[in-house]
Amino acid sequence: MDLRTIILMLAVGSFLYGLLLIILRFKKNNPHKVPFWITAKMLQAVGSFLLFYRTSTYDVLTMVANTALLLGCAYEAWVIRILSGQLVGRKLHILASIGIILVCFITLFLGEPYGTGLVFLLQSIFYILSSLFLFRKLDMKFSLQLLLAISYCMTGLVFLISAILCLGFPEYALKLESDAISDIIAGVSFYIFLVSGFILLMISKERSDKQLLEIQKALKESEIRFQKIVETAIEGILIFDEHYNITFANENIATMLGYTVEEMLGRAYSSFFPESQLDVYKYQESLRKKGQDSVYECCLLRKDGQKHWFLISAKAIIDDFGRFEGSFGMLTNINERKKMELLLEESNRQLKELSNKDSLTGIANRRCFDTTLEREYFRLSRTNSKLSIILFDIDHFKEYNDYYGHVMGDECLRQIGKALANCVNRSVDLAARYGGEEFACILPDTDIHSAVKIAERIRQKIQDLKIEHKKSTVSEFVTASFGVTTVRYSPEVSPVEIIAMADKLLYKAKVSGRNRIEYAESKEIDEFDYRQILKVSSN
Ligand code: GH3
Ligand code: MG
Ligand code: MG
Repeated sequence: MDLRTIILMLAVGSFLYGLLLIILRFKKNNPHKVPFWITAKMLQAVGSFLLFYRTSTYDVLTMVANTALLLGCAYEAWVIRILSGQLVGRKLHILASIGIILVCFITLFLGEPYGTGLVFLLQSIFYILSSLFLFRKLDMKFSLQLLLAISYCMTGLVFLISAILCLGFPEYALKLESDAISDIIAGVSFYIFLVSGFILLMISKERSDKQLLEIQKALKESEIRFQKIVETAIEGILIFDEHYNITFANENIATMLGYTVEEMLGRAYSSFFPESQLDVYKYQESLRKKGQDSVYECCLLRKDGQKHWFLISAKAIIDDFGRFEGSFGMLTNINERKKMELLLEESNRQLKELSNKDSLTGIANRRCFDTTLEREYFRLSRTNSKLSIILFDIDHFKEYNDYYGHVMGDECLRQIGKALANCVNRSVDLAARYGGEEFACILPDTDIHSAVKIAERIRQKIQDLKIEHKKSTVSEFVTASFGVTTVRYSPEVSPVEIIAMADKLLYKAKVSGRNRIEYAESKEIDEFDYRQILKVSSN
């Protein structure tokens, strides 16, 4: 075959090979994405085309062709370095490229056969380099790699011998050049083009298969690791889809809720919430749909209907477009702790109730009365409304006790406490045993007339109880005397002084004949001294 035909075949072959690499580059899951490869082939194609068109003398076209061929050769060496698992330094690549361009430029002034000799020398270096890269990382099981390494080495040697001939024996080289050297070089180039083209593709395929296998292995390992974590986790794990149906449940959460994993899959998460916790569910769902994560406590229903408390750490799952795809929940068992907490809360509540309750009559005690009065009185400072106090005391109760005994006395107090509680209906009102045989009421937002009406109702009710009291000078039954007062807030008047006012009025009722109500109200707190000006009247 004639030399020009071989060069043309090389040019077309390299170009087609480059095209093939371009097509492969755009393929999905591309295993042939190796830097420098396409450029190497295209440079070789350009170089060969230029050589095909050159005149027989060493001219500028030959110089450019040689530059392209040499750069292609260098880039191919980088491809091999990368395929054999090594890196190509930026510096090395740039220096080599500049070196090639400079040397080729110099060859223009050297003439034949020195110019060609220098190009051959460089080419032999890159071919031998390629073979060294392959030998260094040689996987002996892959015999094609060995074949390629040897081929590069042989090609390199052919170029080296040619270079020595051209540089060392120029006259002899000039004699041979037109036929022998050129033919050998072209043949060897064609051979290395075919062998490297095929084997490099094989190596790149093998490399990508190996990478894929490694990725698959790593994926499998991480999957196994994840599964082990999920299975051995003390926590319950739940995954939901965008409709909040369960798509994954680990063994642990299923056991805690008394189900099997299969029974839980596909069920709506809301079906695990007791009626009392549905608000929690709705709120949490709305948070998740906004992409917000949270940690919250709530109880879920077990299969047997029992409630089980969890601390839930929930995370929204959002897809690449920011859409809500579902959520992930880590559930920690806090059932025992929560039960203890609830018990403690309940006993605290009971304790508080007991500490505010009078043990004999069951209505509020003095402590509760004092704190309520304080709270309600200072609330007046914000609302500017009125507050009424009723204070009453059983008439001649000492005589009652002396005559009927303490047990009967206690029973009398109990009945009066009950009667009082029945007369004070509003939730904001408070009926309390103030101490001994004295009772009191706090009536927020109540004016003096309403308060007197209530006092009268209580007085009547006590009388209606018809508790016999032979020692009373007032009536044949047990009676009581009342002091009623109504106040607005004043920073100069304390709650204790309000009680003192009511007590004063009560005393007045006693001295005025008992079984009656005395009342007084401040008209204008700012203008009058409350403690002195009392409008007192009796019924
Ligand atoms: P007055 O009409 O002026 O109020 O006369 P009184 O006898 O009711 O008043 P005094 O303060 O002299 O007596 C109150 C009595 O109430 C003395 C005490 O024996 C009795 N008492 C106080 N607390 C209790 C109690 O918890 N149980 C019983 N059974 N009696 C009590
Ligand atoms: Mg008394
Ligand atoms: Mg009394």
